[in-house]
Amino acid sequence: MSWLTNYVLPKIRAVVSKKPVPENLWQKCPGCEQMLLRRELEANLDVCRNCGLHLRIDAARRLEILFDDGAFSRIELPKTVTDPLRFRDRRRYTDRLKEAQAAHGAGRDAVVVAHGRVGGYAAVVAAFEFGFMGGSMGLAAGEAVLAAAKLAVLQEAALIVVPASGGARMQEGVLSLMQMPRTIIAADTVKEAGLPYIVLLTDPTTGGVSASFAMVADIALAEPGAVIGFAGARVIEETIHEKLPEGFQRAEYLLDHGMVDLVVPRAELRATIGRLLGLLRDPLPTALPAPTSSEAA
Ligand SMILES: [Zn+2]
Repeated sequence: MSWLTNYVLPKIRAVVSKKPVPENLWQKCPGCEQMLLRRELEANLDVCRNCGLHLRIDAARRLEILFDDGAFSRIELPKTVTDPLRFRDRRRYTDRLKEAQAAHGAGRDAVVVAHGRVGGYAAVVAAFEFGFMGGSMGLAAGEAVLAAAKLAVLQEAALIVVPASGGARMQEGVLSLMQMPRTIIAADTVKEAGLPYIVLLTDPTTGGVSASFAMVADIALAEPGAVIGFAGARVIEETIHEKLPEGFQRAEYLLDHGMVDLVVPRAELRATIGRLLGLLRDPLPTALPAPTSSEAA
């Protein structure tokens, strides 16, 4: 054994370890477990070529995919009170925030707002960052949705909100729940101005987010396979003691049950939203009057 372990094994290891493997070259699809080349995956908008799974993407990538030519301007968001309840569970809320901001940028929170054009039409997009504390909606996120709505009204642009969230931010307690009516008011402001309000439900849209602004859109779109619901499937099953149907709380299930208007693959999103905005903002010319009875005859 000693000859094998002392002599042969180090030689084999030396040969094997000589090939440096670049990091992040491959990524495993969480759906079908196929190894995907990172570069190809990105070119395919982070959709698995093998099983069609729409992988979760960050807010920056979302904006890039939605806006024409990937061009947009991000806006500065209003500052809000941090840690109003001086909340602490296993760790301080402020520490959790600092950690998330270290990863995403100083002063950041779970929503990014930008404006630009989608399908040629002026649009303001508020995109949730699931990587930032689960995209949870606290004071800052609520304020961001309101800021987006105000900007849309100011620019006479459509408002498009893209939730990707686990729900309310429990570290802000009731103040976080207050963001539900506040975001509804934001949506109403846009509607009252006669501007389109579109929501693109992405994986996952759950909890307080699904119970507020996300469900009151003029047109509700969803990405294929996205989990959309209020309480988790396991909690519901345990409560009602019944097996839930196949595909429950998935985008396609919601489409079948009238909660979603369209399920749109990521590659078709920009064109689809552009077409919808066109129909909402430039209705067909009403030029031709209805034929009179004599003409019809
Ligand atoms: Zn896959």
